[in-house]
Amino acid sequence: MRRLMIAGNWKMNTDLASGTALASGLAAAISGKELTVDVLVCPPFPYLQAVKQAVGDSGITVGGQNCYFEESGAFTGEVSVGMLQDIGCDSVLLGHSERRHVLKECNEVINKKTKAVIAKGLGAVLCVGELLEEREAGKTEAVLDEQMAGGLEGVSAEQMGQVVIAYEPVWAIGTGKTASPEQAEQAHAHLRKWLASRYTQELADSIRILYGGSVKPSNAMELLGQTNVDGALVGGASLSVENFGPIIEAGLELSKS
Ligand code: PEP
Repeated sequence: MRRLMIAGNWKMNTDLASGTALASGLAAAISGKELTVDVLVCPPFPYLQAVKQAVGDSGITVGGQNCYFEESGAFTGEVSVGMLQDIGCDSVLLGHSERRHVLKECNEVINKKTKAVIAKGLGAVLCVGELLEEREAGKTEAVLDEQMAGGLEGVSAEQMGQVVIAYEPVWAIGTGKTASPEQAEQAHAHLRKWLASRYTQELADSIRILYGGSVKPSNAMELLGQTNVDGALVGGASLSVENFGPIIEAGLELSKS
């Protein structure tokens, strides 16, 4: 059985005080519980170290929201995977829709970043997802196929052990519009089929595919309960213990069933 992952993408939110308070609040909320799901939080770069310290030995892991693919050098404003590793990050989000569509990152760059993360031994959370107009034009699967093929170009079956996929329909991110459990399941099943055809069925069955897009306490259980949904990547609702806590709880409850 695939272990569920509940990941929080804080985006460009919080400040030092509220970010560390959120991290300690989450650590306190899960304290004493058997952590049967992976919990990851991805704060802004400047707060990574403080958040890492605040989650302490709670079992919550900390990741970057982005990285650069070169190891060091004249790349003003960029942060390397080695730097993230140096301060205790376990994973990096890659290809988030805001990076693709606002910051104009292409599949080639996302692929280089994915390989750089894998090379350093960290976990790569590769985000894929279609725009509303692409869904309406019946292009969802073609877009997902292209993003998967581009992002995972040259990634071996063995390296896939470090990869988690996050399906995030762009029209559901930060909009309050969640994909229905059926829409999510359909896209996830398609992604797993893609993985099986590119690699093997066995490998496809072992890869976690998270759903992201307006996940909140009220819909988490139903989304996480879908056969091919192995966790959630949560934006807005990851910014408070009141909302993120119950989503983690939903994962914990499902992991025991
Ligand atoms: C995200 O940022 O990855 C996300 C899914 O955001 P939200 O949960 O706010 O839709």
